[in-house]
Amino acid sequence: MAPHDPLSQHFRLMKPQVSALRKLGITTIEDVLRHLPVRYEKAGTEGSVSSLVSGQKVTLYGTLSKLEAKRLWKSRRPATQGWFEDSGGRVKVLWFNQPYIAKMVPQGALVRLTGTVAGKDKPYITNPEIEALPSGFVPPSPLFDSTENRTVDAESSLSPVYPESHGITSRWFFHALERIFGTGVHTHMEDPVPENVRARYNLPDLATSLIWIHKPEKESHAEAARKRFAFEEIFTLQVARAKERAENDALPGFRIEGAALAKKFLETIPFAATQAQKRAIDDIVHDLAQSHPGARLLEGDVGSGKTLVAAATAYAVVNSRPHGQNYGTLQVAYMAPTEILATQHFQSFIEYFKDLPINVALMTGSGCKKFPSKSKRGEATDISRTQLLKWVKSGEIAMLVGTHALIQKSVEFKHLAFCVVDEQHRFGTAQRRALATKGDAAPHFLSMTATPIPRTLALTLYGDLDLSVLDELPPGRARITTKLVKPAGRDAAYEEARRELRLGRQAYVICPRIEEPDPAKLNALQAKSAKAEAKRLQKDVFPEYRVGLLHGAMSAKEKEVAMAEFSAKKIDILVATSVVEVGINVPNATVILIEGAERFGLAQLHQLRGRVQRSAHPPFCFLLPETTGEHAMKRLRALEKSSDGFALAEVDLETRGAGSLWGERQWGISDVGMEALKNLRLIQAAREEAATLVAKDASLAAHKALAARITAQTPHRE
Ligand code: ADP
Ligand code: MG
Repeated sequence: MAPHDPLSQHFRLMKPQVSALRKLGITTIEDVLRHLPVRYEKAGTEGSVSSLVSGQKVTLYGTLSKLEAKRLWKSRRPATQGWFEDSGGRVKVLWFNQPYIAKMVPQGALVRLTGTVAGKDKPYITNPEIEALPSGFVPPSPLFDSTENRTVDAESSLSPVYPESHGITSRWFFHALERIFGTGVHTHMEDPVPENVRARYNLPDLATSLIWIHKPEKESHAEAARKRFAFEEIFTLQVARAKERAENDALPGFRIEGAALAKKFLETIPFAATQAQKRAIDDIVHDLAQSHPGARLLEGDVGSGKTLVAAATAYAVVNSRPHGQNYGTLQVAYMAPTEILATQHFQSFIEYFKDLPINVALMTGSGCKKFPSKSKRGEATDISRTQLLKWVKSGEIAMLVGTHALIQKSVEFKHLAFCVVDEQHRFGTAQRRALATKGDAAPHFLSMTATPIPRTLALTLYGDLDLSVLDELPPGRARITTKLVKPAGRDAAYEEARRELRLGRQAYVICPRIEEPDPAKLNALQAKSAKAEAKRLQKDVFPEYRVGLLHGAMSAKEKEVAMAEFSAKKIDILVATSVVEVGINVPNATVILIEGAERFGLAQLHQLRGRVQRSAHPPFCFLLPETTGEHAMKRLRALEKSSDGFALAEVDLETRGAGSLWGERQWGISDVGMEALKNLRLIQAAREEAATLVAKDASLAAHKALAARITAQTPHRE
């Protein structure tokens, strides 16, 4: 057996198991070893069927019989049902969602059963763990412990529980791992964390950690192993980032003298840039002047004016000539996460650059536009995609704004010198790379985000980027009033909203995020709730105002129409799903009501309320949670108090922790890794070690196992 052997080579797997394993990303022996338990259960009190107590966890010795797959009467859920018998009698056993278990556990032979007793008059045991016992095993006799049930030594009886997944049980992992460990294959795996690093932080080696995490003899072992895997994951990420940075810095870039140009741009706009904006512009102008491509992250809360920073620096680029030429211009690509935003930014750039002799173009999935139009000066015109691609390739389009469409293979530039990506967390590193190979040299890269993320996460995810922060809002913004509304306060909240609407303002109503693993289904469910809410509000609450609708299941065109109508104030109240989360700019909207608020992360809620902080009118945010549980209320109260998105992100990390909406899906970091993000010291240590290692061995030639981990850990996005 070798770590990279496919599982099927060594295990007989049934179809549902294969697909369940695939869903967990498990295909090889090493994958099984690296599938970590989420927690441990202590074995139950050893007892007998004759003395079962409802709610108690027990360990019993006996035999199983009459196991059969069936569907539960009411829910139609698949289940397996049967009987367990020992000298004291028999008890019904039941496994939910495991129709094939009957084929997998030994019937008639002696087993150890561990599970929790349910049912009052007629006890039964649900989802018990079953372990086959070797022939000749003598079960402990309850006779000698008749007065008091014997508790197994807690230290030696931790059984791992693996992340839930339909079709594959913790017991399967237990047995598979028994076999795998039996072959000693884990001792032949090379440790990706170098020995000197492990020694410095007192981390157990890979083989030991694998045993300790799957078969711990004590809690302290499981704990130490968990820390090691957390360190390994973060360290691997940091090495990947440090390596990317080193590669980036070795590339030739465009040297652009942009300082005077950026300054000139700032003189053309009707307001003064904030100090924070000026600092960020200086940082980027400094990057542009280097001989290697810049790679920078601009973090700034919603409304802090990131677009202006992008515009000032883009201005410097589109006013620069390609090297050794006295004609033509360098090119800028500006990527936005949605068509709505791309279209909005296209309008902003037209406004900013209307007096320049350059072409600005928009490319999205639903069409292309160019400014200025040849026939109608001062206006944009529709053009074909083919024509646009030709002009981008020939260099005639100086600035191209768009969505993901910009990174398609068919898009080629002549002198792409500067890429701006708004809300970069929606784009993977691979996508960034794709954009970086589109011109004649590597472009400078600026990523902008309003997503407040905890510092440790930023250090980990964006370790390859320099950082500029806009920590100041443009002057004249009124402070937002955030109110947590109990069910009884709903009407009062509507009245407050109505007062704003009477003043001529507009409102958003956000319908809840629904936790649903299937994104297609999610869109449909959210659309349903938004539609119903729009109808209700129009009919029962705000009949005198025009209520509109915006949701993720609408086509790009429909969304655009809805947004345009809201912008033009043809709609007073926009009922929307969280698609409005990022970047939408309608300054006249000053009220936002968020339904099911507890379903969102704090950082997300903060971004949502940023939608109404776009003018000098005092804004209001009403949070309408569905539950009034203490934990949810406490989290939401943090929003009433704080207006600092980054501080809220830290609270989010603390209170939600690993899993849920935070984990793998959003950031490509496992639950173990997310736990580690609460530990700034660990993150910094991993970062320093990664930098040291890459400085010595940038190609990782002497660290093959580590290089392999990087590949394995890189999320495969489309
Ligand atoms: P974000 O950082 O969320 O992308 P935007 O770039 O959309 O913010 O800017 C929000 C609003 O603030 C825009 O209407 C923009 O014109 C305005 N703005 C940006 N910078 C300033 C400034 N220095 N003074 C006044 N208004 C500004
Ligand atoms: Mg923005």
